[in-house]
Amino acid sequence: MRAGFPVDDTNTPIAALKSQILALCRRKGWGDERGVQNPQHVAMAMTVEMSELLEHFQWLNPGDVDRLLAGGDPDRVEMIAEEFADVMMYGLQLADALNIDVTEQILRKIDIVDRRGPRPDEPRR
Ligand SMILES: [Mg+2]
Repeated sequence: MRAGFPVDDTNTPIAALKSQILALCRRKGWGDERGVQNPQHVAMAMTVEMSELLEHFQWLNPGDVDRLLAGGDPDRVEMIAEEFADVMMYGLQLADALNIDVTEQILRKIDIVDRRGPRPDEPRR
């Protein structure tokens, strides 16, 4: 994205990311003329990428996780970030293919979770 200023989560609409991903798919010749790929394939690819993400957490002990959270393992965070991006890119493609408004659905889900009671195994606060 070449906006002439730094772009990050604070100033980038989700629609802009969706459009960048579609443009990438068109450049690569993936999907239809808009760059929209088969949502079934996208959902499957998303789980593969989720596994790649999980691989970076496999066999970590609690001390490793503490170090990760404290910023003491930037190389691992970089690898996690890359797989996170893969997962999110497929998620946004899925949303695009099925006309899912990400913001509307996340806010709707937050409302559903807020209104539902605690799970039986959830600790009381
Ligand atoms: Mg990957």
